[in-house]
Amino acid sequence: MALTLTVDGDRWRQHLRAVAEATPGLVPVCKGNGYGFGLGRLARRAGWLRDQGFDVDTIAVGTYEELPEVAQRYSGDLLVLTPWRPFGAALELPAELSGRVVHTVSREQDLVDLLGRQPGARFVLEHLTSMLRHGMTGRQLRTAADHLAGARAGRLEGIALHLPLAQGSHLGEVHRLLNDVVAAGLAPTTIWVSHLTPEELATLRASYADFRIRPRIGTDLWLGDRGALRVTATVLDVHEVDRGDVFGYRGRTAPKAGHLLVVSGGTAHGIGLESPTGDSSLKARAATLARGGLDAVGFVRSPFTIDGKQRLFAEPPHMQASMLFLPHGPRVPQVGEEVEVRVRYTATGFDRVLVS
Ligand SMILES: *Cc1c(COP(=O)(O)O)cnc(C)c1O
Repeated sequence: MALTLTVDGDRWRQHLRAVAEATPGLVPVCKGNGYGFGLGRLARRAGWLRDQGFDVDTIAVGTYEELPEVAQRYSGDLLVLTPWRPFGAALELPAELSGRVVHTVSREQDLVDLLGRQPGARFVLEHLTSMLRHGMTGRQLRTAADHLAGARAGRLEGIALHLPLAQGSHLGEVHRLLNDVVAAGLAPTTIWVSHLTPEELATLRASYADFRIRPRIGTDLWLGDRGALRVTATVLDVHEVDRGDVFGYRGRTAPKAGHLLVVSGGTAHGIGLESPTGDSSLKARAATLARGGLDAVGFVRSPFTIDGKQRLFAEPPHMQASMLFLPHGPRVPQVGEEVEVRVRYTATGFDRVLVS
């Protein structure tokens, strides 16, 4: 009765080990919906990697709010990716976690404020990249370094760089950013990076041998072997309809004879409308209409696959179920059968995650 993520456990664990093996200093990112697996499961899995002898001594969470869910299940250090600010959950950090948490500091005033409140705080300084999300410029990094030299407080754990997803090589940008780190007098140190290819990481390690490079990886770690993952919904009901039969919340009529299928998975799971199929120009719509194409009557492609093809929603997804229209032709699945679903793992809440 559920939207289910089924994981081929052997294959998944083998992939996780292979990534850890190939990535010294790996920092598994456990944030958001836990990449579909759930935060707690990822935290335990990171601990498992560490137990296998990999140097996974730190995981990263996205927000301070996520800390309690992982802190019980993983015993190492906890890097928070959202920069520290003098408000919100950052100020409600449980005392027993303060020694394990590594803050991200992206503004000089926050550095002063954090060290004033928690003189022993562990932190990384975030350097602004071409993402322009958070971080200090080269000049601000120098001011922060001067402040640290005088403050004799806190524990600088390195510099964080958040790079955009690759469009060509990142290395030119990384070299410029690391020059800023050297110019600020903060080198050698640990550099926490994202979104560098294994080749870029190798080049960086070779050219900056006295820096420790730590890649933060989520997607390519947890979701890197899609063949180990299968998402299915259950067929909950099947109704045969004739052309003109009325159905659904909006009293639509069936454009031709076929079957309405009710499958598990709706807006509450993150199931959404996909873009209309193909060309949506008037001419193209007229052509599909002439062929009897269902997209021309306003049906939109769903992520549910039946008989090898992505089928159309009969109407927009409901909260926990979706109605599909299946014209005559393909085999009609029976109530209780599983159908494949194509989802964005980082935006889907599964009812069940089954790891073999
Ligand atoms: C989410 C995130 C990552 C990991 O990104 P993936 O694409 O999932 O590997 C790394 N660094 C930061 C700052 C992030 O927010």
